[in-house]
Amino acid sequence: MQRRAVLFLLACIPFFTACAIIPISKSSPPPAPVTLKRAQFLMGTLVEITAVAPSDAIAQASLTASFQEIRRLENLLSTWIETSELYRVNQAAGLKPVGVSAETFDLLRRALEVAEYTEGGFNIAIGPAVRLWNIPEAPRIPSAMELDIAAQYVDYRRIRLDAARRTVFLEKSGMRIDIGGIGKGFAAEKAAAVMREIGATGGLVAVAGDFRVFGRRADGTAWPIGIQHPREPGKILATLDATDEAVSTSGDYERYFMQDGVRYHHILDPKTLQPARLCQSVTIIAPDATTADALATGVFVMGPVRGLALAERLGLGAVIVDAGGGISISSHARNRVKLFP
Ligand code: ADP
Ligand code: MG
Repeated sequence: MQRRAVLFLLACIPFFTACAIIPISKSSPPPAPVTLKRAQFLMGTLVEITAVAPSDAIAQASLTASFQEIRRLENLLSTWIETSELYRVNQAAGLKPVGVSAETFDLLRRALEVAEYTEGGFNIAIGPAVRLWNIPEAPRIPSAMELDIAAQYVDYRRIRLDAARRTVFLEKSGMRIDIGGIGKGFAAEKAAAVMREIGATGGLVAVAGDFRVFGRRADGTAWPIGIQHPREPGKILATLDATDEAVSTSGDYERYFMQDGVRYHHILDPKTLQPARLCQSVTIIAPDATTADALATGVFVMGPVRGLALAERLGLGAVIVDAGGGISISSHARNRVKLFP
């Protein structure tokens, strides 16, 4: 017995020594942060996430959890998935209020807030018109009569949110919520939060044109974000270095079709239910991705003059390419955005 105890102690020596060495090795540099990147097809688009973390295990875990988070939100919010909350809200249009989770309620509240800011340019009640145009799946120009009918169902003021009961009611049968203009930003925001919780020190979540970044890259620098040129595929219009903020771009160049020399794209002007005509692309830089995503769509509809004025009023960065290709940059972004020749 005694011998065994001695052996046990002897066996422990390397362990204790190892423990004892750790505090002494203070002067050696900390392990370099690990950078990992993963891509998946979610929310109908390519999602690319980069994680910077103190270890490989934390980087892996934060990537796995952030993709899981986006999948969870897709199931909660997609208006195409029959078990989602918003699907049920749309099904109950004109019939009854539907109870929703705090998250869904928050998303809708934010969407209606942006609708007010943008004087109705951003409008999640646009669903019936989006369905008619169905860009890019089955592109065709709806008739004037079809659009007239759809126009009766796109008033966002008839989306009733009851905070006390946490319910949503679409007051008119035929109304249909579409979160295509805000859902990706909302998901990017939540995915970044999950990464931070798990211990990532830096990250970039890119859901198509909606970017959310936090912290820094492994070498300590900020995240360079490129803004795509709306008329020259593959060319960068401008770049900026971002950290702890969101950069969202809405453009007429990714989901569109051409007919008789006219471009028909997926951002609709709620007043005409036609593709909005005043911009080619709008980039919004904001503290959070939900706001950036919704405002990029809303400012696109408002156009360069009113859109720029709104960005100034809200103190946000905006890079607006107008219908003629002219570029305007809000004062918050002017010193940060580098235009490419
Ligand atoms: P993307 O989805 O390409 O990132 P946006 O964020 O600008 O681009 O969202 C466009 C989507 O938003 C459309 O596909 C449609 O589902 C929806 N939408 C279209 N017009 C509007 C509008 N005026 N307000 C809110 N959502 C809109
Ligand atoms: Mg948007």
